Amino acid sequence: MATVIVSGLTRAHETLLEGLFGFLGQDVVRLPEPDGEALKIGRIYCNRGQCNPVYYTAGNLIRFLQGLRASGEKDIEKNYYYLTAGACGPCRFGMYEIEYRKALHDAGFPGFKVVGVQQNEALVQDLRNLGFRFEKRHLSRFINAIILADLLNNLYYKIKPYEVMPESVDRWRNSALDLLYAVFRYNSSITPSLKQICDALSSLELDYLSPKPKVKIIGEIFSHLHEGDASYGLPSWLVEEGAEPVVEPLSNWLEYLFWEKIQFTRDRAFRGRVKALREILPAWLLKTSIHLHFAYFRFILNNRPDKLARQRQLARYAAPYYHVRLIGGEGHMEAGKHIYAVRKHQAHMVISIKPFSCMPSTQSDGVQTKIAEDMKGSLFVSVDTTGDAEVNVKSRILMKLQVAQKRAESEFREVLERKKLTEARLKVLRERARLQSLPMRNRRRRYIATATRVLATLV
Ligand code: SF4
Repeated sequence: MATVIVSGLTRAHETLLEGLFGFLGQDVVRLPEPDGEALKIGRIYCNRGQCNPVYYTAGNLIRFLQGLRASGEKDIEKNYYYLTAGACGPCRFGMYEIEYRKALHDAGFPGFKVVGVQQNEALVQDLRNLGFRFEKRHLSRFINAIILADLLNNLYYKIKPYEVMPESVDRWRNSALDLLYAVFRYNSSITPSLKQICDALSSLELDYLSPKPKVKIIGEIFSHLHEGDASYGLPSWLVEEGAEPVVEPLSNWLEYLFWEKIQFTRDRAFRGRVKALREILPAWLLKTSIHLHFAYFRFILNNRPDKLARQRQLARYAAPYYHVRLIGGEGHMEAGKHIYAVRKHQAHMVISIKPFSCMPSTQSDGVQTKIAEDMKGSLFVSVDTTGDAEVNVKSRILMKLQVAQKRAESEFREVLERKKLTEARLKVLRERARLQSLPMRNRRRRYIATATRVLATLV
């Protein structure tokens, strides 16, 4: 049976999917995070004028295949295939598969198979032809893997900025990933392992009473999801700069695909209501299942990770600024997520990151200034990734981050003054917060900074 090559997601997503595919008897190879060198290789073999994600992922794949060939591996085209996201839309995302084929052909791998993940029967048939036993009944396990990876990523960046013992949060994440990998690899129950992960989290020593600005990362899916060079390592860099990143879940995008399908089928339902209902029902069930599973797993984790924003709510927020039937990339979701972050007190600042010349994201940026103006005081910055403008991008973010830091400090000071708390009392509270793992009770949502929420819970 051919080995499947996966890449292009976060480490957490790829680890859990590797476990699931392993259970299905499929050999998996995970590629390293695409970096600057992958981008260069991608630019050599792909057509000009494409956007970064295709250069990064195609370059990463070609580098791996060239390495295999150099090590003497025979029959590469027969023994390996690449599983990637594929979609039909008005932006260049719909052309990715063709680009991969062209690049692979030019790099000397003309028969190499690329399978695009889409919501249709052809995917299941393509995988069966390659010997992969992925059936529709495995879909719920696949969705659970995506959701759990999202929750772990969200939690990791929520607690990493507050760790007391260096690397302790990384060790917690590694063991959580090992546990969940085993859950998917051996098809065991998720809940007990999740409870174990939650207990291990409670025993971590965290210093929550240092006010840090919360920064929500939105934008084009590939750029905002990536933790490495493709996003200039944005989430980790924000932690180094003393901020708390709020990362977006992939589940949101998955749910958006089903929401979009429901809306478009409903618009055309006059052509045949029964046929439309037959298409809407499975999409609605999958969309609802994503939401329910997300809420359940979040509950097991003591409701600590952020909620999954409702598609209806995002569309309602975005509608006055961005037509919700305009598809491609994240569509109206970028506008909706910006408003959501402000209205739900989710972040002090919002960064929209996109590959240079990304069409849907550039269109969104056109209305973001108006949204920032209407949201009174929203701190919004939009940045492009070209692969070689890291210093420029980061210095633009730093300028706004200083303002966000001041806002986080001032809301914290306000509670200190209102409650007449002295430095000595604060010191005692800090010790209590460290030892009691209080942030499990994520209340006081009228404040934004985690430090202020915890302080308000304590006094
Ligand atoms: S969403 Fe942007 S980056 Fe992604 S394929 Fe479309 S244009 Fe390219």
